Amino acid sequence: MTNMTADCAVVTDLLPLYYDRVCSPQSRALVEAHLAGCASCRGALAALGQNVGVESDHREEAAPMRALASLLRRNRWLAFFVGAFVVALVGSIASAVTFRLIGATVDAEGILNEPFFLVPIGMLLGLIALGSGIAAVAIMVRRRIA
Ligand SMILES: [Zn+2]
Repeated sequence: MTNMTADCAVVTDLLPLYYDRVCSPQSRALVEAHLAGCASCRGALAALGQNVGVESDHREEAAPMRALASLLRRNRWLAFFVGAFVVALVGSIASAVTFRLIGATVDAEGILNEPFFLVPIGMLLGLIALGSGIAAVAIMVRRRIA
């Protein structure tokens, strides 16, 4: 190593890419060769790992979820429709289940009591879920994500 400072500067620039395993094999070999003989840069790499923390241990498993999260961050309308779809679907199912649970009864005066209001609410939420789902899929198809 003739110019340690310049090497360290280059390696420090490469460390985040090296850490994220997105640098070229050549850069990777260069970083590893330098790390073997430079305690200062090994320290910088260790600090990088500490900053990322627990997440780094699960980076492989979490990759699809992180991809989805970043996708939703970049596509606000998609996030909106996916959110609306989930909320409306859950609400629709909850309405149907509640309707079944309450059931229909006939009281002493022969008047039918049933939570009829849940039917249009459930249908409305179902329609919203359907519309949101179609809109979300349409956005994904248009952006060639799906
Ligand atoms: Zn160094």
